[in-house]
Amino acid sequence: MQYDVIVIGSGPGGYVAAIRCAQLGMRTAIAERYPVLGGTCLNVGCIPSKALLDSSEHYYTAKHHFKTHGIELKDLKVNMPQMIRRKDQVVLENGKGVEFLMKKNKIDVYHGHASFLTPNRIRLATGEDGSVEIEGRRVIIATGSKPIVPEHFNYDKKRVITSTEALNIEQVPQRMLIVGGGVIGLELGSVYARLGTEVSVVEYMDRILPTMDADCSRELSKSLKGLGMQFYLRHGVTEVVPSDTQVRVVAQSRDDAAKRLTFDVDYCLVAIGRRPYTQGLGLENIGIALDDKGRIPVNERLETAVPGVYAIGDVIRGPMLAHKAEEEGMFVAEVLAGQKPHIHYHLIPNVVYTWPEVAGVGYTEEELKEKGVPYKVGKFPFRALGRARASMDVDGMAKVIAHADTDEILGVHIVGARAADMIAEAVALMEFRASAEDAARMSHAHPTYTEAFREAALSATANRPIHL
Ligand code: FAD
Ligand code: NAD
Repeated sequence: MQYDVIVIGSGPGGYVAAIRCAQLGMRTAIAERYPVLGGTCLNVGCIPSKALLDSSEHYYTAKHHFKTHGIELKDLKVNMPQMIRRKDQVVLENGKGVEFLMKKNKIDVYHGHASFLTPNRIRLATGEDGSVEIEGRRVIIATGSKPIVPEHFNYDKKRVITSTEALNIEQVPQRMLIVGGGVIGLELGSVYARLGTEVSVVEYMDRILPTMDADCSRELSKSLKGLGMQFYLRHGVTEVVPSDTQVRVVAQSRDDAAKRLTFDVDYCLVAIGRRPYTQGLGLENIGIALDDKGRIPVNERLETAVPGVYAIGDVIRGPMLAHKAEEEGMFVAEVLAGQKPHIHYHLIPNVVYTWPEVAGVGYTEEELKEKGVPYKVGKFPFRALGRARASMDVDGMAKVIAHADTDEILGVHIVGARAADMIAEAVALMEFRASAEDAARMSHAHPTYTEAFREAALSATANRPIHL
C-alpha cells in the first residue's frame, strides 16, 4: 500500500499529526504496536493518572472537609477496585474517541510493531510471525518514551513498580516509597497519600520539582507535607530489594556518606524520568544515529538526518509533555504541506496536577538570575482571595515576573486551586508580549481564583495589590 505519510505511534504526537495530515489532503496511515490507540498519555499517563487524582481528591475532601461544610457522612470508605474500574472506563472511552477520529479523517490504522526497511518502506510485525509492508513518501516517527529504571533497582513490576503499575494497585497500600520528587512522584504520591498510604519520597536534588520555580516547590512542599507525605531531599537510592510481600529500599545522603536510611514498604515506585523509545524501529537500517540521551536528532523543521523522515514528541529533544507532542504533530503536518508553521517552545506551560495544582510558563526567577536579566516580581497569596476562602482552598500563590525596565511579562508561576486552567491566560498574554500592567488593567470576574493572577500583576507592575 502506498501513502503520502505514515505515522509510527498513536500517542498525542502521532494521532494529532495523522489528523492534521489528513485534514491537509494527504493519504495517511498510522501504525501502533498495541491493540489500543492513544499512546502513553491516554493509556498509562495523563488520562488515567488524572482519573485517579480526581477520585482520590473526592475521597479526601469527603473525609476531611465535608463536616466543616455541614455535610455529614457515615461509613465513608474507599472501594479501590471500583476506583480502578472507573479509571479504566475513562481510558476506554478516550481510546474509542481516537479510533473514531481516525475513521472520521479516513486514516488507515495498522496494529503491529513498525520498523524501517528503507526510508520509505515500513514493515509491520503483526504477531505470530505475520507481517505487512507499507510505503510512504514521508514518515513521521512518534514512538514516545518509557520509564527509566536502573538495572540494580530490581524492577519486578510487583513490589518495584513504575507509574504504569501504580495505576492499577487494587488495595490501598500501607506504605509506599517513591524514588524521585518530580511530576510523576508527586502526582501519584498524592493519590495514595489521600487514600491513607504513608508516602515517603526520596529526591536527589535540594528540592522537589527541581526544574520549576523555587517558590512553587516551597509552597507545594508545605501542602503535601500537610497531606502527610514525607520528603528526604539530597538522598540517592542505592539499593532496592523486593520480596514477595514487601520491598526494602536504602537511600544514602549526598552530604554524609555514613548517613543511610532504610525503608521497608509495600511498594517502591520508581519515578526518576523517562527515556525515548526507539527499540526495534530499525533506525540503523536507514542511518539515523541517536544522541547521547537516546533521542532522535532533528532540525528546526523536525526532520531527521534522513530526508523525508521526521520525528516528534517524547522521542526528540524538549519537555516530555503531551501538549508539546501535539504542537509538534500539527507543526510537522503543516511543514509537509508546504506551510510555514511556528512553535513557541518557551511558552509551553508546565503543569503538576497535585492539589493545589502547580503551573508555570516562561522564565523562572532562577533562570533570569543566571541570564543576568533585570526583573521585578509580584506575588499574591490565595489565602487573601474571597473565592479561595469560600471553597477552603487557601493554599498557594500566584507570581508574575516582569522585565524591570519594559514591564513585559517574562514568567508566571502559580500554585493553587485550578492553577492548571489559570495558566492559559498567562500563555495568551505572553504570546502577545503583554506587560504586567496590561494584565493588571484587565477585568477579572469576582470572585474567581484568576483574581490572584491579576493581583500579582498589579503587584509586579506598580507594587499596588488591592487586597493585601
Ligand atoms: P507516546 O504517548 O508515548 O506514544 C507513543 C506510541 O508509539 C505508543 O502507543 C507506542 O506503543 C507506539 N510505538 C512505539 N514504538 C512503536 C513501533 N515501533 N511501532 C508501532 N508503534 C510504536 N503529559 C502532559 O502533558 N500532561 C500530563 O498530565 C501528563 N501526565 C503523565 C502521567 C504519567 C503517569 C506519564 C507516564 C506521563 C504523563 N505525561 C503527561 C507525559 C505524556 O504522556 C507524554 O509526554 C506523551 O504521551 C508523549 O506523546 P508521544 O506521542 O510522543 O508518545
Ligand atoms: P521528572 O524528571 O519529572 O522527575 C524525576 C525526579 O527524580 C527529579 O526530580 C530528579 O531529580 C529525581 N531523581 C533522578 N534520579 C534520582 C535518584 N537516583 N534518586 C532520587 N531522585 C532522583 O520525571 P518523572 O516524574 O519520572 O516524569 C517523567 C516525564 O513524564 C517528565 O518529563 C514529565 O514531563 C512527564 N510527566 C508530565 C506530567 C504532567 O505534565 N503533569 C505528569 C507526569 C509525567
